[in-house]
Amino acid sequence: MSDRRKFLKFSMLGAAATFVGKNALASPDHDHYYETVRDEPVVVSTWNFGMEANAAAWEILKDGGHALDAVEAGVKVPEGNPDVSTVGLGGTPDRDGRVTLDSCIMDDKHRCGSVMCLEHIVHAVSVARLVMEKTPHIVLVGDGALQFALENGFKKENLLTPASKKAWQKWLQTSKYEPVNNIENKVPHHKKAPMPGSKTNHDTIGMLAMDANGNLSGACTTSGLAYKIHGRVGDSPVIGAGLYVDNEAGAATATGVGEEVIRAVGAHLIVELMRMGYSPERACKKAVERIIRYNPGEAQKIQVGFLAMNKYGEYGGYSLQPGFSYSVRTRDTNRIFHAPSIYKK
Ligand code: ASP
Repeated sequence: MSDRRKFLKFSMLGAAATFVGKNALASPDHDHYYETVRDEPVVVSTWNFGMEANAAAWEILKDGGHALDAVEAGVKVPEGNPDVSTVGLGGTPDRDGRVTLDSCIMDDKHRCGSVMCLEHIVHAVSVARLVMEKTPHIVLVGDGALQFALENGFKKENLLTPASKKAWQKWLQTSKYEPVNNIENKVPHHKKAPMPGSKTNHDTIGMLAMDANGNLSGACTTSGLAYKIHGRVGDSPVIGAGLYVDNEAGAATATGVGEEVIRAVGAHLIVELMRMGYSPERACKKAVERIIRYNPGEAQKIQVGFLAMNKYGEYGGYSLQPGFSYSVRTRDTNRIFHAPSIYKK
């Protein structure tokens, strides 16, 4: 019997009231927003562009592959797509015109790796995985991360595409720092993402997967806030903030203003809330409320979206402002969900 089945059997014996119908288990508190999956792989990721990323992850999960391989393969899709202006190749640069990537990955055994402020390498997530697997460390930054990547066979590339260079040069005319909430969400996932023009944008892919053995992994990768100060690192590569995985409780990831997610240690907070019995959606909502408490009078200007999956394969998301979406792939489901939000417009 797999560990997961043992776990499920134990939960069902311990809490018969949580069994709600044929293939469904419910968390102690119920939301309308999640579907329940059991003994089946599931992958979820932030934003509409998660649909294509999920498809790549699903190719691995459906054949019994490991969740870690799935999340790496999944987030590599937007990393390699020059039309996605918030991740990897074609990512919006910092104010000096340098594309600096932040990425991390975490598996079911609390192993994790991270790169921060990495330049010239398209697949930052794969470098993060190598940091995890080939070094005694967790985080490599800047030139050290680049040197490590090159020593391990990664190719140095120019990540600043002509389109993002043009948009950056236009931005320089005003240099106005003005994040635009939910910009990825305004683009159908199969269409070319708009370039930012004089507006600043952001949005990260965070992906969480449970494989057929019930093991969880996650990955998170981004070019960070557009036109940031060179050297700025957000929440996305910070273990516990932009991503956290605990195979006994669940996994969570974040998108939005990274400074706020770091302050609340968002992903870890959500995982601990799920351990206490909160459903994924309710745990995400609690974390959003924490951010509001930390920003009295200012929270209406901030967007943060959280996405979580618990050990049962249930998932849910929540955001501060409306417009945060996430993509879900299971054997029966392949769709985008619009997360509920605290503020309604
Ligand atoms: N969280 C990312 C950062 O702060 C950006 C985003 O997801 O929008 O770097």
